[in-house]
Amino acid sequence: MPSGLSRRLFRFKGGVEPDTHKAESSLTPIGKAPLPSRLILPLHQSVGACATPCVRVGETLLKGQRIGNADGWISAAVHAPTSGKVVAIEDRPSAHASGLPTLSVVIEPDGLETWVERAPLDVTARSPDEVRKALRDAGIVGLGGAVFPTHAKLTAAKSTAIDEVVINGAECEPFMSCDDLLMRERAEDVVRGASIFRDLLEPKRVLIGIEDNKPEAARAMRRAVEALGFDFEVVVVPTRYPTGAAKQLIRVLTGKEIPSTRRSPEMGVQCFNVGTAYSAWRFVALGEPLISRVVTLTGNVESAGNWETLIGTPFEEFVALGRPKPDTERFLMGGPMMGFEIPDLSAPVVKACNCVIAASSSLFPPPPPEMPCIRCGACAEACPHELLPFELYRFSRAQKFDKAVELSIDECIECGCCAYVCPSRIPLVQYFRFAKSEIDARRKEKAKADATRARIEQRKAREERLKAEKAERLAAAAVKTSGAGGGDGADAAKKALIEAAVERARLQREAHPPKNPETPASVEAAEKTPDPAVNPGDATR
Ligand code: SF4
Ligand code: SF4
Repeated sequence: MPSGLSRRLFRFKGGVEPDTHKAESSLTPIGKAPLPSRLILPLHQSVGACATPCVRVGETLLKGQRIGNADGWISAAVHAPTSGKVVAIEDRPSAHASGLPTLSVVIEPDGLETWVERAPLDVTARSPDEVRKALRDAGIVGLGGAVFPTHAKLTAAKSTAIDEVVINGAECEPFMSCDDLLMRERAEDVVRGASIFRDLLEPKRVLIGIEDNKPEAARAMRRAVEALGFDFEVVVVPTRYPTGAAKQLIRVLTGKEIPSTRRSPEMGVQCFNVGTAYSAWRFVALGEPLISRVVTLTGNVESAGNWETLIGTPFEEFVALGRPKPDTERFLMGGPMMGFEIPDLSAPVVKACNCVIAASSSLFPPPPPEMPCIRCGACAEACPHELLPFELYRFSRAQKFDKAVELSIDECIECGCCAYVCPSRIPLVQYFRFAKSEIDARRKEKAKADATRARIEQRKAREERLKAEKAERLAAAAVKTSGAGGGDGADAAKKALIEAAVERARLQREAHPPKNPETPASVEAAEKTPDPAVNPGDATR
């Protein structure tokens, strides 16, 4: 369907329509944030394994040089955003609600911005696997906030025929406008990035979804698609939070409901944020790894806007660009619906950081005291994942985590719709985050205990096997010795040999029990169980 013609749209269940507050930060062009005095690069900046450092303290670095190697397939590399010297590799406060320190490379810039040697990637001369590996080594991850390694999303979909690649320009969070400005100003590069994903996944169509509160971005993207001669569809969708969540946008654009037990590629769809497409193109066209991103700075500031910001810039230097008003009390990372308070402003801007909001009590008045749940059901009506938030709240509060799991708390994307509509002003998402972190900790504990138990059982089995083999050897030797003489001694030795063989067979049976052919359902269920480490991008933008 040519760009511009209308496509049938679908609705997702639930959702809310908060004030968008986007105009404040979207009136000026994207600025370039200055080089900070220090850059702090956490090595864990993607879903999956933490990158492993490949530089030493005291080493001189070039801009774009790799400082952390991806550790395995679900991981992504980290690079120096400028030239300078490594002054520390140590734990530093992180841009996370917990504020817990994370292993980081600290760089003192030399101010020269000397680039490492860069070369475009000729994707036509490379195999798809080589392109995916190159994207991993360039540190390309989902920039909508999910930071799932992009190459792995391209890999995850490899075995399934893909009908649609969805490029997510919905940007539904209030206050946030980084994707809007990116599409307005750099539409052609975003579209070219989408063409890389198209070439790797070979879908039937590419759909670019943009909420109808960003008409300028939609026009720019349409112009770019036409200028480049692609057959991508730019589809304007109604503004309704959380349309920018992957499952919701997929539903709106294609009508497909992704069940909680399945991942979107299994349903023939894969989704990427516009910022991700842009950074993939920068890497392919210019050889630039992911070292900067556009970040919205807004809220209680004199000068709201969007800044191309080096990853690793300390928040304290970044927020100064907006000149926060004197009554600013705190800063949020992300939007007001899904974001969190930055606990320590010495933490750095990371790849997941799309927006920083200066908050004051006039902008975000303190919530009235929490009241008891009146079981009105408003939260359930607003939940886009059709959960029962009031029940999840009840079990989370009572620390009955098994019950919360039974009610699919894992499916909660922490979108905040339920809390937004709750007349009792219950901070539901905070309860769910607490419950999820407890559930996660218990699962890790259990996995550790299971692994220890398995190791002990394996050792025991090995010891018993060695014992049985020894007995068998001794019995065989006895048969040999007594065989020469014949009589009762030979019979006893043969008996011992048979007993040893029987014992060995028993141990083998115990170590490798036959599969029960009557339980195929359990196998099927295990195969269908989603692995959240493989596609959390379904749950976020
Ligand atoms: S909206 Fe609030 S008060 Fe109503 S059922 Fe949900 S949690 Fe209870
Ligand atoms: S925060 Fe979770 S429970 Fe609440 S509306 Fe969103 S998905 Fe549903």
